[in-house]
Amino acid sequence: MNDITPVQQPSMKAAVWRGRKDIRVEQVRVPDAPPPGWVKIRVHWCGICGSDLHEYVAGPVFIPVERPHPLTGLKGQCILGHEFSGEIADIGAGVSGLRVGERVTADACQHCGTCYYCKHGLYNICENLAFTGLMNNGAFAEYVNVPAELLYKLPDDFPTEAGALIEPLAVGLHAVKKAGSIVGQTVVVVGAGTIGLCTIMSAKAAGAGRIIALEMSAARKKKALEVGATTVIDPTQGDAIEQVRALTGGYGADVSFECIGHRTTAKLAIDVIRKAGKCVMVGIFEEPSEFNFFELVSTEKEVIGSLAYNGEFADVIRYVADGRIDVQPLITGRIALSDIVSKGFEELVNNKDANVKIIVSPVAA
Ligand SMILES: [Zn+2]
Ligand SMILES: [Zn+2]
Repeated sequence: MNDITPVQQPSMKAAVWRGRKDIRVEQVRVPDAPPPGWVKIRVHWCGICGSDLHEYVAGPVFIPVERPHPLTGLKGQCILGHEFSGEIADIGAGVSGLRVGERVTADACQHCGTCYYCKHGLYNICENLAFTGLMNNGAFAEYVNVPAELLYKLPDDFPTEAGALIEPLAVGLHAVKKAGSIVGQTVVVVGAGTIGLCTIMSAKAAGAGRIIALEMSAARKKKALEVGATTVIDPTQGDAIEQVRALTGGYGADVSFECIGHRTTAKLAIDVIRKAGKCVMVGIFEEPSEFNFFELVSTEKEVIGSLAYNGEFADVIRYVADGRIDVQPLITGRIALSDIVSKGFEELVNNKDANVKIIVSPVAA
């Protein structure tokens, strides 16, 4: 009874980005009790995103290293992970409508609430946007603290692993919504990586008439057809624009989605649509493209940007719950957090085409 052991700071396993090609699985402090308006989540599954891979291979891209992030103060190192599901472990003051133990997923756009955009409901383009897992500590960890307003409850029989796919699907659905009604229309999706596939699924759920995927990898072509593309065109085999026109009475598609972010595919996405058609840019571009804007003047085509999502989580959860969207074709790997570098990041570097979403569990052995 006289055994007085010092109280140890509770620790947890987490994947910490410390620099390019330097992600370490370490024991770190468990986040403090959530502040007012925040909730602590015990993470069940968290997907590896293309942006996480970018930070690993070519970072820092989004992680602030020069000065602390204005909203979160984070600088120099970050627990990655923003596509996650889990259960509520602790609730901060002033939060209502949530209970410990409830299963949830979270919108990753932490925002200031005071800038022009936040005040106009455009929180995804907040002036002080702090993406969870890039600009504040994320969910490749046993626990993560997030603002309660960003949480969405998962229905009772909803698989927790599917909860980790809601975020990328919301990116696809937001892009589709930016195009307005696409009911019955011919849609071209340029690129069938994760976001391309999520856009195909969302376009199908939103009632697109025909979905043409432009993709060159054999594995991704197959996936595109599996998740709802009606036709796949390989842009390395003949003229993709001519092939789309041949399928659309010579006019071109009504709507296109650029989901790659390459300087050549941006123009392609504009070229495949008909006059007065819409092109939504979703890919993350690293370099500028050359484009003559007279092409927009002379055709009245519209080019629209789309970043992340703005409230699409509830719709996506409903689509998955009612079977309109099946997440299973998106999940190509389930791994333990301790293996995230070798079986996650390195696997994605070496086998990019064979993988869509690898999901990571901090609980699995
Ligand atoms: Zn993501
Ligand atoms: Zn704001």
